[in-house]
Amino acid sequence: MLDANIIVVGGGCAGMQLIHSLLKLPLEQTGNIILIESNREITHKSWCFWSKNKTEYDFLISKYWTELKFGSVSSDLSKEIAPYRYNYINSEAFFDFHFQLISNSPRVKLVYEEVEKIQSVNGIKRVFTRNNEYQAQHVYNSALDFTTIDSERILLWQHFKGWFIKTDQATFKPSQATMMDFNIPQEKASHFMYVLPFSETEALIEFTAFSIPSGYSDENYDSFIKNYIDEKFNCSYTILREEKGKIPMTDFKFPATSKEGVIHIGSLAGSIKPSTGYAFNRISRHTAYLLESFLDNNKSIYKKQGLARFHFYDTLLLQIIKDQPEQVAMIMNKLFTKNSFYKILSFLDERTSILQEISLFYTLPKRLFLKEVLKYVWFKFQK
Ligand SMILES: Cc1cc2nc3c(=O)[nH]c(=O)nc-3n(C[C@H](O)[C@H](O)[C@H](O)COP(=O)(O)OP(=O)(O)OC[C@H]3O[C@@H](n4cnc5c(N)ncnc54)[C@H](O)[C@@H]3O)c2cc1C
Repeated sequence: MLDANIIVVGGGCAGMQLIHSLLKLPLEQTGNIILIESNREITHKSWCFWSKNKTEYDFLISKYWTELKFGSVSSDLSKEIAPYRYNYINSEAFFDFHFQLISNSPRVKLVYEEVEKIQSVNGIKRVFTRNNEYQAQHVYNSALDFTTIDSERILLWQHFKGWFIKTDQATFKPSQATMMDFNIPQEKASHFMYVLPFSETEALIEFTAFSIPSGYSDENYDSFIKNYIDEKFNCSYTILREEKGKIPMTDFKFPATSKEGVIHIGSLAGSIKPSTGYAFNRISRHTAYLLESFLDNNKSIYKKQGLARFHFYDTLLLQIIKDQPEQVAMIMNKLFTKNSFYKILSFLDERTSILQEISLFYTLPKRLFLKEVLKYVWFKFQK
């Protein structure tokens, strides 16, 4: 006898969004669900994403900004982004909501164990932890092992550390978030600052580096943040808490399922946008797709998702970040100063038409991108 109809491995961003969606269906359709999570400690994350329509998680958005700012050595631009808005969800609120949902639902069982392997025997999925085995009809997996990424693909990391600070005087413009400010020392990697003001006196000030494999020491991060606050805001402040993390940036094409028919979700399904690291919105869209597939007995799960041309654009940018990180600030400067923020956000969201993309590429350094296209074609040809 099966332990459940569905097993979800990993109760992070994707696992929780999936369970939330499944619980909107009647019990007869989902059957019982087991969520297997290896970690009792929740890593704090500040999830931001832009939207112009209603989203599944509007009720968890505690702050949004209607204006975005881009900074570089030569410009300091801020623009209204209507009809978009830039939303913030605190991961604590996200997990409180989902844990409450799970504890209120008799059909979901949460177990804290580490999944070691998953097999399929006669269509039944067998999930093994150190001491137990669980069997189910469907398994959704978000446990990503980076060593499984094809070594021929690009794998870079976006490293960041931020301080949530409270200032002694009114310092920030609460309606304006800084998406990228490259006006800081660039050194060997591409560096920028990210600023999310929650009020005139509270903000998250985050330093981000693209492409250094192992990140920096805490002292290094701290000095970037401290210098930025001193130079940009010149205020006295208290550090309330810190946030630190790294996000993979890869052009590896994550398969929709494993060979055993285990359905991939979240990062394991390629939901992290390779060139930016944004994932929350993509996970929401993928979850909606997974639910549709589930209602269709998962017949459509193998269908390719996303448009190939955006994967190609991402790969070109990753090649540049990898080989010429010093060019990234200049490329971003051209992108942001010569295009509307609306067009940039639509492009990063993969919602533009080919014509819009051509007009956007026209504003970027053509020779540099042409060289990257030739490099891309050459590598393809070699394989
Ligand atoms: C600090 C930080 C800030 C971010 N900010 C943003 C942002 O502003 N906007 C945005 O769009 N994206 C952001 N991201 C990127 C992205 O949203 C997250 O990485 C997202 O959490 C990915 O979801 P996931 O479910 O694939 O992975 P996770 O949320 O990491 O969940 C995976 C879960 O699986 C569990 N697990 C792993 N292995 C096993 C195993 N063997 N057995 C059982 N359980 C296992 C883990 O403990 C974890 O709980 C951020 C990422 C980080 C790290």
